[in-house]
Amino acid sequence: MSQSGLFRLLPSLDELLRLPAIEALVQREGRSATVAAGRAVLEQLRTEITAGELDEAQIRSRLDDLPPTVEQRLRQSLAFSLRPVINATGVILHTNLGRAPLSRAALEHMAEVSLGYSNLEFNLSSGERGQRDVHVGRLFAKLLNTAEREVSTIIVNNNAAAVLLALNSLAEGGEVLVSRGELVEIGGSFRIPDVMAKSGAVLREVGTTNRTRIADYESAISDRTRLLLRVHRSNFQIVGFTEQPSLEELVALARKHNIPVMEDLGSGEIFDLRNVGVRGEPMVADSLRAGVDVVTYSGDKLLGGPQAGIISGDPALLAKVRANPLFRALRVEKMFYAALEATLLAYLREDYDSIPALRMMRFSEDELERRANQIADRVRANCPNLLVEVAESRSVLGGGAAPGSTLPTRVLAVKSASHNADELCARLRQWEMPIIARVEEGRVLLDLRTVEPEQEEAIVAALESMSK
Ligand SMILES: *Cc1c(COP(=O)(O)O)cnc(C)c1O
Repeated sequence: MSQSGLFRLLPSLDELLRLPAIEALVQREGRSATVAAGRAVLEQLRTEITAGELDEAQIRSRLDDLPPTVEQRLRQSLAFSLRPVINATGVILHTNLGRAPLSRAALEHMAEVSLGYSNLEFNLSSGERGQRDVHVGRLFAKLLNTAEREVSTIIVNNNAAAVLLALNSLAEGGEVLVSRGELVEIGGSFRIPDVMAKSGAVLREVGTTNRTRIADYESAISDRTRLLLRVHRSNFQIVGFTEQPSLEELVALARKHNIPVMEDLGSGEIFDLRNVGVRGEPMVADSLRAGVDVVTYSGDKLLGGPQAGIISGDPALLAKVRANPLFRALRVEKMFYAALEATLLAYLREDYDSIPALRMMRFSEDELERRANQIADRVRANCPNLLVEVAESRSVLGGGAAPGSTLPTRVLAVKSASHNADELCARLRQWEMPIIARVEEGRVLLDLRTVEPEQEEAIVAALESMSK
């Protein structure tokens, strides 16, 4: 049959929409989405005919399947794009996978507060307007427990916003001194010099990349200096011939000249990671105790809460930040206060296992080994063409925290007789509950530290399907 003859076999869009099965779809899912799906399916057929890919018999069989094809297309277009995945990378705070998973309590409190109205900015005892920060401010004050001084806290969209807002509030039009060794880039789009420029403060670099002394800060101080800034290097280390003044020295110098000190901590550790063998990450409370006036950190890194930027410190300086119109532009939704409040309450109760990121950091090697062996045994029994071993490996915290520290873990190392490791890894990503793994030396590695025990079933099912 000629190509134009083949085209004539196709129904018009109107004819398609009059099919009873399609009419039913219109009733259920709405006219415009169904029309779009129908149009796309017909368009696909035309494209294939033009390319000479379909003969008459193939077209007739495709036309018999038209209603289910349109329905499938419709379902795809109405499905969520943002979906849960299984993180088998072992990177606990994986920025591309949403960083910190939330606790059950955080989720429940978010739902409870967001499904209806709340006292977000309403003082229930006076009946007057209140401040949204009070809900978490009191908890931060307890957790950061610096008996000698009062601590105020403000929440914004993320730590990048926190740094921008704090710099703009405290140093716009003046100079900020930063060590050359701390002009960092985090995750591609956050660069200290760029954020500084946007804040309206002038960056004044002091010292050198590897060595900065307190005298370098002192000689750079002038009547234009508004702030001394310390930036946690987060995602890299400088080793070898290095020098950096202690926080105490920096604070003493700042006091002498009556200039505040700010520290961008990045990850915001509240739970002491030395408990899991990780050293060198600064704790928020330690910086405040050392006399730093303002600290900024993320809600969804080591804290294990929702995305947020947190500014804690001296109440008088925080009042300036709160009065900045930029704060209004960067403030966050009630849901985030709810999630943060629930996460902070877990800290106060020392219920660390209820916070997923902390629970994952605290999994013991024995526990991980036991789980890995269980899964490996099941897969070996059912998947003759997969080679599965349990191997030792290292998990990382991620989120730019403690780049030099890793946690000992167990991985499932999988090889397939029919697919190479990259193919196997890609097929795991296509699984109905996508599984994100990594390839090393020709094997797919699945790190169980970041896999919740209730997700193990899905991993077994996916591997079994892959061996067919
Ligand atoms: C992660 C990080 C940031 C950016 O924080 P976000 O919450 O991702 O905006 C800024 N500064 C430092 C030092 C960091 O580690």
